[in-house]
Amino acid sequence: MNELAELYQQVLLDHYRSPRHFGRPAGAEREAEGFNPLCGDRVKVYVDVEEGVIRALGFEGSGCAISTASASLMAEALQGRRIEEFERLFAAFRATVTGGAPDREVDLGKLAALAGVAEFPMRVKCATLAWHALEAALHSPAGGTTVSTE
Ligand code: ZN
Repeated sequence: MNELAELYQQVLLDHYRSPRHFGRPAGAEREAEGFNPLCGDRVKVYVDVEEGVIRALGFEGSGCAISTASASLMAEALQGRRIEEFERLFAAFRATVTGGAPDREVDLGKLAALAGVAEFPMRVKCATLAWHALEAALHSPAGGTTVSTE
């Protein structure tokens, strides 16, 4: 394993073992649940949005290392960011994990640790599960309808 792959492995294990922003943040009015039947991952995303800004973002659930690390890294990356920034980041992240060409203007930061998923098409749904749930939550009415994203 080369040094970069080792570093990425450490980032993923760290976020899997100690997920950041785990739980429902106070004031989160929107939520959506994602389920990945291929792997059995379940993740529920909670978000507090005000004037187009993600004020707080948290998640709960259980799943494999990739789905949990991805949810944790996503929650860390998007605190205080605008919805448009989420959309750009999601597009770049999805392109990265599916082996496509991500927008080079977008800095994935630690999310680049999941780039190796591109070599395992079966795991793409694990990596994007929390993102689809967040997208559903952002488009759901406030007050909490739960959307399942399979
Ligand atoms: Zn999984």
